[in-house]
Amino acid sequence: LVSRKKKAEDTIITINGEKIGDGTPSFIFGPCAVESQEQVSIVAEAIGAKGLRMIRGGAYKPRTSPYDFQGLGLEGLKMLKKAAVENNLAVVSEIVTPHHLEAALDYVDVVQVGARNMQNFELLKAVGSINKPVLLKRGLSATIDEFINAAEYIIANGNSQIILCERGIRTYEKATRNTLDISAVPILKQETHLPVFVDVTHSTGRRDLLLPTAKAAIAIGADGVMAEVHPDPAVALSDAQQQMNLPQFDEYYDALMKFMKQYEFK
Ligand code: PEP
Ligand code: MN
Repeated sequence: LVSRKKKAEDTIITINGEKIGDGTPSFIFGPCAVESQEQVSIVAEAIGAKGLRMIRGGAYKPRTSPYDFQGLGLEGLKMLKKAAVENNLAVVSEIVTPHHLEAALDYVDVVQVGARNMQNFELLKAVGSINKPVLLKRGLSATIDEFINAAEYIIANGNSQIILCERGIRTYEKATRNTLDISAVPILKQETHLPVFVDVTHSTGRRDLLLPTAKAAIAIGADGVMAEVHPDPAVALSDAQQQMNLPQFDEYYDALMKFMKQYEFK
């Protein structure tokens, strides 16, 4: 059902008035994790001031180590929702188990399925039966075919509002945290009718690569870019190395807008 052969036209998903997949790149910014009301409110204000319509932030964090910050859970979602509402933003946040889904839906507008859960089939079925958009990330070691099949689980259960997100894959290369598979973007656009995002933060793990990779994503036809922004990345409880602070975010966004104008991306 996600195949282009089944449906030739692009799927366009409207989130908080913004059309995802209509040919104009969209942006999802926000901290890696929700840490406090103040932290998310500061970031939400910066995002809202740019006229953007979405904020991200994890409340259930799938951390590699059990001793690392695990997220604030439902309390974190409430903080993020409050900050979002005050700045006219939709909330994008990861849910890691079907058990959390129902309670979370009061606060989450776009449900993120993280890379580590791309083949959590019960979660895929659960988000397949809600009527909110799902941002599905590619698994760390998933082939494009496995990625497409994960999306198929969601649509097969009735939800066609799916955004695919390339976030880098595991290779032998150590210069970046993961290897951004930029060619996945046009392949996914050809093979499916779904919008495709690129997460430049988790793919590169390097702040100095956030801009060139976002430009590459837009140039190759991505429908949007995700990147992390934190008021003080040095003290962030997760992903401290690659989040942008607010002045960096301003500079980054200006540079992207300039790039889009220069090359006439709408
Ligand atoms: C995230 O976006 O917060 C995240 C954990 O990313 P990924 O699932 O791609 O690692
Ligand atoms: Mn992160």
